Amino acid sequence: MAEPGASVVARAYAIAEDLLWPAAAAIDRAPAVPVGYLDALAAAGLYGLYGPAHAGGLDADAPSAGRVVAALAGASCATALVWVQHHSAVRLAAAAPPSVRDAWLGRLCRGEVRSGIAVAAMRRPGPPAMTARPLGRGGGWVLDGWAPWVTGWGLVDVVAVAARHGDDLVWSLVDAVGSSSVRVEPQPLAAEAASATVALTLSGHRVEAGRVLAVEAYEQWRARDARGLRHNGYFALGVTERAARLLGSTELAAEAEALATALDEGRDELVAGVRAEASLLAVRATTALVAAGGGGAVGLGDPAQRLARDAMFLLVFGQTPSIRGEQLARLLPGGTRS
Ligand SMILES: Cc1cc2nc3c(=O)[nH]c(=O)nc-3n(C[C@H](O)[C@H](O)[C@H](O)COP(=O)(O)OP(=O)(O)OC[C@H]3O[C@@H](n4cnc5c(N)ncnc54)[C@H](O)[C@@H]3O)c2cc1C
Repeated sequence: MAEPGASVVARAYAIAEDLLWPAAAAIDRAPAVPVGYLDALAAAGLYGLYGPAHAGGLDADAPSAGRVVAALAGASCATALVWVQHHSAVRLAAAAPPSVRDAWLGRLCRGEVRSGIAVAAMRRPGPPAMTARPLGRGGGWVLDGWAPWVTGWGLVDVVAVAARHGDDLVWSLVDAVGSSSVRVEPQPLAAEAASATVALTLSGHRVEAGRVLAVEAYEQWRARDARGLRHNGYFALGVTERAARLLGSTELAAEAEALATALDEGRDELVAGVRAEASLLAVRATTALVAAGGGGAVGLGDPAQRLARDAMFLLVFGQTPSIRGEQLARLLPGGTRS
């Protein structure tokens, strides 16, 4: 049976406050998020946040799932970033053909198999960065191309890779292990460096049918993706909530709550504007925290500078042309820069 949303959110806040927030400075400076924190999220069932209850998932409703994202992001954004990449694989596995679903879904929900995702470049116009061609009889595919951002390398077991085949998007699970057909380059980062984010290149990489999660129309995915990007907005609201708490600002907290409510309502036509407002609010709140803290705020042990870097990262994470346009319209005196 699905768990009531409130108890899932309470559990996430308990982990955030008791485990992640006290360790956030150390996590930020670690070469990669220590796996014990991800194990704790798995033990709390949070790898199955969006998974169906019959497969061991929590089947959380969208507003509750958003509050879970906010709780974790406001405690350790790097840990939340690694964890959040997992959920597309869960959702795709839940809708996969039975043999694929049965092989992967339960283990994904329990966090026994942890996934990253390689999809962002599929939002870019022009020739697809990653392509798939059929392997022949048997239903497998051969993948070729490049994904500029894959978070969690070394912390995940598989990566859900999106690749274009004509008008379709092919989703498959690729083992997160270097080989002659799988190469990675670290992405040195000014924020979320512990997220173990790499650029991934696949060269003639074969995936068997049992690893193919979905083949869907590209345009159908675009519509689903636009709706799903709503959830990334809760990252910025979690960071704002934390800064507001440290500042003792009920006004900033109320602004964050109003935007969270707007995201909860899920009106597709408003998402880009709300996402832009949320990311800029996080920048404003964390800037205030730095200003309030004096010189000490830029010390590596101080949460203000870390939260400010989190907010910088959240300007671009899950950014789309329309979110970027809404951000620049608010930031630049002359409106949007093309
Ligand atoms: C630290 C980090 C970790 C990440 N981890 C992952 C991950 O694990 N998996 C994953 O899939 N993604 C990941 N991302 C990708 C992230 O979501 C993208 O940064 C975001 O989607 C924007 O894409 P981009 O950076 O590739 O922008 P680009 O494609 O370089 O474009 C820059 C901006 O311009 C816009 N743009 C591009 N072309 C046009 C056009 N023709 N007209 C108008 N606007 C345009 C884009 O929407 C974007 O806003 C990560 C990013 C970062 C920074």
